[in-house]
Amino acid sequence: MHIGIIGGGIIGLSSAYYLHQAGHQVTVFDQNKITDGCSFGNAGMIVPSHIIPLAQPGMIAKGMRWMLNSTSPFYVKPRLNLDLMRWGWLFYRHATPEHVERAIPALRDISLLSKKLYQELASSGTLAPFGWQERGLLMLYKTAAAGHEMADEATVANRAGIEAQVLSASQVQEMEPEVRVDVRGAVYYPGDAHLNPGNLIHGLVTYLKTNGVQFVEEQAVTGFGTKGTRIDSVQTGKGEYAVDNVVVAGGSWSPELARLLGFSLPLQGGKGYSFMLNNLTGSVQVPAIMLEARATATPMGNGLRFAGTLEVAGTDQSVNMNRVRGIVAGIRQYYPELPVELPKIDTVWKGLRPCSPDGLPYIGRVDRFENLTLATGHGMMGLSLGPATGKLVAETITSQALSMDPAPFLPTRFS
Ligand SMILES: Cc1cc2nc3c(=O)[nH]c(=O)nc-3n(C[C@H](O)[C@H](O)[C@H](O)COP(=O)(O)OP(=O)(O)OC[C@H]3O[C@@H](n4cnc5c(N)ncnc54)[C@H](O)[C@@H]3O)c2cc1C
Repeated sequence: MHIGIIGGGIIGLSSAYYLHQAGHQVTVFDQNKITDGCSFGNAGMIVPSHIIPLAQPGMIAKGMRWMLNSTSPFYVKPRLNLDLMRWGWLFYRHATPEHVERAIPALRDISLLSKKLYQELASSGTLAPFGWQERGLLMLYKTAAAGHEMADEATVANRAGIEAQVLSASQVQEMEPEVRVDVRGAVYYPGDAHLNPGNLIHGLVTYLKTNGVQFVEEQAVTGFGTKGTRIDSVQTGKGEYAVDNVVVAGGSWSPELARLLGFSLPLQGGKGYSFMLNNLTGSVQVPAIMLEARATATPMGNGLRFAGTLEVAGTDQSVNMNRVRGIVAGIRQYYPELPVELPKIDTVWKGLRPCSPDGLPYIGRVDRFENLTLATGHGMMGLSLGPATGKLVAETITSQALSMDPAPFLPTRFS
């Protein structure tokens, strides 16, 4: 069976990996160079701790407050756009305690499956080393309000079987002997991990190319040949490729691919930025989320990667330095002695997180075509959930027993 995968980000590459392992011929299509996408320069965190979806009670009020400040970590660019309005309506409908309750076991199970698959990948030696580290994650906070919120989330996590420890400021400082951390406290999730996403993507591409997976790069998929309920070819400006099965893993551009196939997919790009601070004498040891600043710090290579902001602004990829300024100001409040300066605009990496309105990914078949599988909408957790998504995609296409119940992720859930 020949499977065409549209999208060479972590989701498309993980799908290619497990489909190739299942013995299929695979072609990966990408409109850019593989190393240009959202999967390359992200924060590298593998987060079973993230069991509460973005669509949650209180999120809309918080978002409204943040939107009034140009350096804030969250922003929705006001646009008269029907897709954005539908997405906003669905987000609002899902920001409920009932939705969070339903989402928790689903996110926990897919995250734990993915972490197990990453452990297998890291220990098997099939890929070049990609910096896999299991040091957990610190959720740092500076205010009593955030502390209460985090303590509540820690209770929810422990109840769901994800270990979470509430730490005092001095316990946090003990975990970070090389840098001063100015916080009120933290919640520590020892089960989280991190990796170097650039090395992972390079490793996956090298492995797949060496083992016969075809790559069609720098060619956008512009159409599909269809017959009844089947897709039989993938079309780019330069050629047409016969396929037996198609996986749409187009990240934030997936709605455009869905439109080419005649259906609509509620999804918005959530732009974020990252930059590196290299050659440090003393550094952060444990990846951290600076809660009030909504910024992250991850030890990577010989330095630290900082990331943050979520701007819902379509597929616009320009860098807004005001938001980057906001990240820098945030970092200085938590790590006051780190030599963090505003980076030059050309050293700022940007990526579009593919955000579904209910905070759960789309994984599975759609009604319209019997040989189409969607794998997108992972928002802030695409790197984390990559291997599990790839495995579920391969199991769906080859009609094998599924590693977990994918019902909460079915793309048909809003129809
Ligand atoms: C600042 C930041 C930090 C983040 N940190 C983390 C983190 O710590 N942990 C985590 O789990 N996640 C993190 N994420 C989220 C994660 O990066 C994304 O969820 C993930 O990369 C999405 O992967 P993807 O494969 O779905 O999309 P992408 O990586 O965007 O890949 C989609 C690909 O499809 C291609 N494509 C689209 N349309 C077409 C077409 N018509 N023809 C051909 N090709 C097409 C695109 O060119 C693109 O390469 C972060 C994101 C950002 C922005």
